[in-house]
Amino acid sequence: MRRRVLTSEILHPAVGFQAQRGQVEVRWDPLTGHSARLVSAARLLPASDFDLSALAAETQASCFFCGPRVLEVTPRLLPAIHPEGRIRRNQALLFPNILTYSQYSSVSIYSPDLHFLPLERMTARLVADNLAVQVEFVQAVMRFDDEASWASINANHMLPSGSSLFHPHVQSSVDPVPSTMQRLLADVGADLFDDYLETEIRLGERYVGSTGSVEWLASFAPQGFNELRALVPGIASPSQLQPEQIEELGEGIARMLNLYGELGYQSFNMAIFGAPPTQDGYVLNLRLVCRSNVQPLYRSDVTYFERLHWQAMVDGSPEELAERARDRLRS
Ligand SMILES: [Zn+2]
Repeated sequence: MRRRVLTSEILHPAVGFQAQRGQVEVRWDPLTGHSARLVSAARLLPASDFDLSALAAETQASCFFCGPRVLEVTPRLLPAIHPEGRIRRNQALLFPNILTYSQYSSVSIYSPDLHFLPLERMTARLVADNLAVQVEFVQAVMRFDDEASWASINANHMLPSGSSLFHPHVQSSVDPVPSTMQRLLADVGADLFDDYLETEIRLGERYVGSTGSVEWLASFAPQGFNELRALVPGIASPSQLQPEQIEELGEGIARMLNLYGELGYQSFNMAIFGAPPTQDGYVLNLRLVCRSNVQPLYRSDVTYFERLHWQAMVDGSPEELAERARDRLRS
């Protein structure tokens, strides 16, 4: 685990312009080599209690994803991909994305009735059902098209995360080519994945716990705020997730989102990075990060560091986050 603490020295106005030292820690991700800077004594992502329910009411009347309009205005899948045209599981509903972001892109809502879903109200049932329709979609696409082997299941939750719609939803992409991060992760190799997980379990300070076949940890060198990672050893693609693993992931993700809600955050991004199902030694993995809250005069959590240097600048410590997340997984 590579890290380096950098020390600054300035003449500080708060202490009569006497010399004062400051520190920033740079860490490198063991899997991809991406670096992160951990800034202490800063509040870069303020929590907020901004009332989202007013925004929910304002956006609901024209929402494409609210029932019953969702069935009239969203597209259907080709019958050769899925005979029903849309995929359902309890309240979850999946349909193709009306915009072509990928060769095969889908949207799945947690429910046509859940226009407003604060993170503290996210449940294992809602997340697992949503994941289940996405997995069924990815499987159907892969049966339909041999070339479409790179799948990912992702979420932009609330406007600051990149979502254009208020109504909470999950998206997936299945393409014949990987995204940049999928390619970097696919190059990691089985030994490094194994070593990373074994090291984190042995060190323990960032290890959150296991739900059986899914391992949770806080990122050593996060790409975003409060970043949590899950690894599913033994499978390479979301298409290979078994029903019990979907339940486990749903449980784990819901608990971590409840934690984000408890910490005062309402917007997040998630990516489950798949490689082709035949990729030997690849470990299916996800990353979950908090984004800025919706509120007037908010500060974006993406600065030139993240956007142009590919290096996250975060406050808080992954080790403290792991401590809090560990409790959520235990309860
Ligand atoms: Zn809606």
